[in-house]
Amino acid sequence: MSLDLPDSPIGRRRSPPGLALQTALPARADIVVVGAGLIGLSIAWRLARAGRAVVVIERATIGAGASLAATGMLAPAAEHEPGSDPLLPLALESLRQWPGFRDALEAESGLSIDYRPDGTLVLAIGRDEVERLRFRYDLQRRSGLDAAWLPGSEVRRLEPGLRPSVTAGVHCPLDHQVDPRLVMAALAEACRRAGVTLVEGTPVTGLDWSGGRVTGIGAEGRTVVADTVVLATGAWSGEGGLLPDALALPVRPLKGQALALRTTVRTGTLNRMVWTEQVHMAPKSDGQLIVGATVEDCGFRPGVTAGGLYALLEGARRVLPGIEEMEVEAVWSGYRPTSDDDAPIIDELAPGLVAATGHHRNGYLLAPVTAEAVAELVTCGALPEVARPFTRARFERPEARRASA
Ligand SMILES: Cc1cc2nc3c(=O)[nH]c(=O)nc-3n(C[C@H](O)[C@H](O)[C@H](O)COP(=O)(O)OP(=O)(O)OC[C@H]3O[C@@H](n4cnc5c(N)ncnc54)[C@H](O)[C@@H]3O)c2cc1C
Repeated sequence: MSLDLPDSPIGRRRSPPGLALQTALPARADIVVVGAGLIGLSIAWRLARAGRAVVVIERATIGAGASLAATGMLAPAAEHEPGSDPLLPLALESLRQWPGFRDALEAESGLSIDYRPDGTLVLAIGRDEVERLRFRYDLQRRSGLDAAWLPGSEVRRLEPGLRPSVTAGVHCPLDHQVDPRLVMAALAEACRRAGVTLVEGTPVTGLDWSGGRVTGIGAEGRTVVADTVVLATGAWSGEGGLLPDALALPVRPLKGQALALRTTVRTGTLNRMVWTEQVHMAPKSDGQLIVGATVEDCGFRPGVTAGGLYALLEGARRVLPGIEEMEVEAVWSGYRPTSDDDAPIIDELAPGLVAATGHHRNGYLLAPVTAEAVAELVTCGALPEVARPFTRARFERPEARRASA
């Protein structure tokens, strides 16, 4: 991720003063979590609250992967599309868990995460887009999702700043949002208060194996012995990562560029998240309007491009003319960790080794249910029912599955 403004990376801006991060590796822990993104910290916090001694090891800085690049939408309805039905029960269960997750996180960190239950408006301009929106709406309704079809006049009543050319919209009241910068700062603080050891700037270079079991990790020429190692390495969980070939995960980086605009009384803003076929826009309570995000299957290619920013700004201006007056406050890019079926992988890969990765564009939505599932796997030895369809086994060829049965 590259964040080009003076107070970057943005997630750091609000970290509470005195958030002392440990830099020394302990010799042993109950659990080692590799990766201090949203998923790693959510799991670490959950396991520390269950009384485990947890160390999180991050090669860069907290949130430096995808997690500070996100918009923070918890949007199972707006994101619902053909093929995403298998993910829906997990997504809805996580959304159900979010208010409890928020309450505990805010109470235990002392920090707000700007949780907004405002819903999403998905927009269409012109006949072709209306047809495609009608298709999406029918799909939402068939899947049992709460969604309401609105004529253009009603859409503009809800969002007066939108262009008169907006023809129709679908309101999805189920969708909520958070501010990723605040969530990551709160998770870091809650982890610290729960006794988690957070080590930054330390790449984990290998897993230690003994008798077919993972017994710890290697980093900086040292070993940390652990009962369980949790890989939460995001887009870096695939090829060339820490796993032996036999356990390799089908996870790749899917680059996304995004930007933040500063809204004022004069420019106006949106009241809720707005989606079009080109962009999504999410207003935050501090006055930022996030515009995202490109989807680029180009491997690890850092940086922000003129083409990416142009597409985002053009897509936003097409529906919200007020953006022309808004100051550009930040631009960035990040890598969604994307599996071959766009759904997460939550699994015990070998004794002592758990993976929680592949959350694609739904990491924020799925963080509570993922943390719960991993905690249950580590403490009780089995995944909860709702997470069982998301093991690595679904990618194995039938003959490999028969052989390992
Ligand atoms: C532009 C964009 C917009 C998005 N918007 C949304 C949204 O609105 N809603 C939503 O739900 N999701 C959204 N997402 C997706 C979401 O950001 C991700 O699904 C989520 O952040 C993944 O979290 P993670 O912890 O798995 O990965 P990451 O945040 O990438 O964390 C993985 C960490 O592991 C570290 N690491 C890797 N290898 C090692 C190693 N060997 N040793 C030590 N550390 C290592 C990395 O440095 C990294 O910090 C968006 C993503 C992008 C890019």
